[in-house]
This record gives sequence, structure tokens and C-alpha cells, in this order.
Amino acid sequence: MLHKLYGKTGINASAIGFGAMRFLDQDNTEQCASLVKYAYDKGITYFDTAPGYGKSEELLGVAFKTMLKERAQRPFTVSSKTFGSDPSSVRRDLETSLTRMGLEYLDFYHMWCILTPEAYAERKRNGALKEFEKLKDEGLIRHICVSSHMTGGDIGTLLEDYPFEGVLLGYSAMNFAYREAALDAAAKAGLGVVAMNPLGGGLIPREPERFDFVRTRPDETVVEGALRFILNDPRITVALVGFSDTHQVDEAVRAAEGFQPLSKEQTGKIRSGLQAAFNELCTGCQYCDQCPQGIPIPRYLDAYNHLLLGDGPQGMINRLKWHWGISLEDNTLDRCNRCGLCETACTQKLPIPDRLATIRDEIAKARLAAKQ
Ligand code: SF4
Ligand code: SF4
Repeated sequence: MLHKLYGKTGINASAIGFGAMRFLDQDNTEQCASLVKYAYDKGITYFDTAPGYGKSEELLGVAFKTMLKERAQRPFTVSSKTFGSDPSSVRRDLETSLTRMGLEYLDFYHMWCILTPEAYAERKRNGALKEFEKLKDEGLIRHICVSSHMTGGDIGTLLEDYPFEGVLLGYSAMNFAYREAALDAAAKAGLGVVAMNPLGGGLIPREPERFDFVRTRPDETVVEGALRFILNDPRITVALVGFSDTHQVDEAVRAAEGFQPLSKEQTGKIRSGLQAAFNELCTGCQYCDQCPQGIPIPRYLDAYNHLLLGDGPQGMINRLKWHWGISLEDNTLDRCNRCGLCETACTQKLPIPDRLATIRDEIAKARLAAKQ
């Protein structure tokens, strides 16, 4: 297994992490716990979960019962998260996570899912970060981290505001343009970086022909190619893969074990392949992000990518809801007056107002269906 140093913590993390959010059947405790143990035996030592991933923490706890006996010889690290926006909820969430997993401490504890700079400021103002510091002083957590779906520039600003030790963010061959600024900021500050959704939330393996451009060797699968693109980035510590079965574990481990550094030409080819293969896709460059009506266009266009890639209207709506925090009740798109400024600015010359209208219609349909 390839290992990388996690920021300045001294922890040598496995370059592939176990994302415990995609178990096949959470009611099958034995199957889920043995998948975790299987990954550990294959050399994966970074395990990530959250209280909101169904029974994930309890299932990890079952696997950890055995793994803890071997921890001194084969160290592993555990990461979880809290939405808590005030001291008591941060502490309560941590205590619940520790109990569920049978652990005395967490290696990485994340201020979870910061969707806007305002949301971060509010949690900080309420004392959430001060509570993280107390928990660290008490030895209940080892490292204070943050997870965010904001665009790269906003994440960069957040990392400059507080001395986090690591950051968890979405990054893949599909959406790297959104997050470049965040990776640069994290590298500058010497932070550990965990890339979640390195396989585009499952889109990359589902569309191997479309994503063929990520392969740089004839003997690799599209999944291996996509993971190696992430592994190759010196700014990224861990590629966090949500595993459902042992085949997926094997493929990811193979990507790390057979990894050879990519040349600038090869990574350049992947980046330009994105443009060529997806000239109908939004690349996340954000040149359009100056709507006079305050519409966060890149977020909506990122969700529209999922419609184009075959995820259907529900996939697009899920992306808006779970990735960007835009609910069915949100009426932001009603403000579009088709002034056309965004379309003129778009580097891909995408029909942005038409796409926004489609998204608005799909949201309206889903809202109606939800009420029936
Ligand atoms: S067309 Fe709509 S989304 Fe685009 S800039 Fe004008 S108001 Fe904003
Ligand atoms: S300018 Fe075009 S490609 Fe760039 S983020 Fe906006 S919609 Fe996407």
C-alpha cells in the first residue's frame, strides 16, 4: 500500500481510505464488518465515517472490536464528523460516535459539511471550534479538521481563518476545476487533504467509455486511472473511496500498489480530455459566477452535469440537496431574468439560462411529487 504523511500530524496514512457510507446492506452486520476487516487486511488504515451515514459507526465498531487487538502492531486511524454548531452538541456528537465505535478517542474530528462562509462563521461564533479545542486537550480527539463542499476559493479563505490540521473535500477527475484553489491553500498551510468522491460519486465506474481518457496505461481500468490521477497529486493525502464489496477494495488497492508517478503530459492529457470528452459539461471554472441576481450558477450547472451523465432528474436533485445544500423548497432560480450575462461569460458557451430553467422545472416536479 502507498502511504502519505497526513499534513504535520506525523501520521503516515494509507493513500486509499475506507469511506464507510456505501455499505451494500447495513442490516447485514457481519457482511459489512467483514468488508471493513478485509480492507484493513489489504493495507487500508484510514477509516472515515459520520453519524449521518445510517448505521455506519456501529458497523465500524463491530469491525474495530477485532482490529483494536491488532492496532499496536498495525496502526489505523479513524475519522468522524459533527454538524454541531454549539459546544454541547459538538461534545454530545463526539461522545455518541465514540460509544458507537467502541473507541477512546478519534484521530480526526471534522467540523462537518460547511456549505457557506456564513455557516462556518456562525458555528465559530457559537463556540463550536473552542469545544473542539477542549476535546483535543482532553485527549478525546487528536486532530481538528474540516469538511466542506464550498468552491475552492471559499475553502481557501476558511483554511486561512483557522489552523485546521486537515481538510476533507470532494475532488475527482470530473470536478477538479472546482477545488484547485482549496488544494493550493491546503498545500501552502501544510494540511492533510482527504479527497472524497474520487470516483465522482460512482459516475466514473458507471460510465467507463466516457471516462476512458483517465487511463494512462493499457493495463489499467478506468477506476484505477481515476484513482491514480488523485494519488499522483502531491497536495492530496488520501483518496477516500466508498466501498460496497471486496472487488472494489481490490481494485482501489491495485491502483495504489501499481501506482507510478504520472508525467505532466499525462495529467495534462487527463485535464484536456475532460474538455474534449465533455464539451457539453460544466467544468467548474466559475467564470459565470457573477449573476446580478445572486444565483450560484456553478453549483446548479454542476448538478446538471449529473443529468447529462445519465443520473436522471433525481440524481441531479440529490446532487443539489446533498452536495450543495439546495433543497426542494429553494426558489433561487425564480430570480433568473435571462439577462444572458452568464452565457456570454461561460468558457464552454453553455446555454446556462435554458439549463437553469430545466433545473427549476425538475425541482418543481419533485416538490409536487413529494407532497402527493
Ligand atoms: S441569465 Fe439568469 S442566471 Fe444568468 S446572469 Fe442573468 S439572471 Fe443570472
Ligand atoms: S463558466 Fe460555464 S463552464 Fe464555467 S462554471 Fe460557469 S457554466 Fe460552468
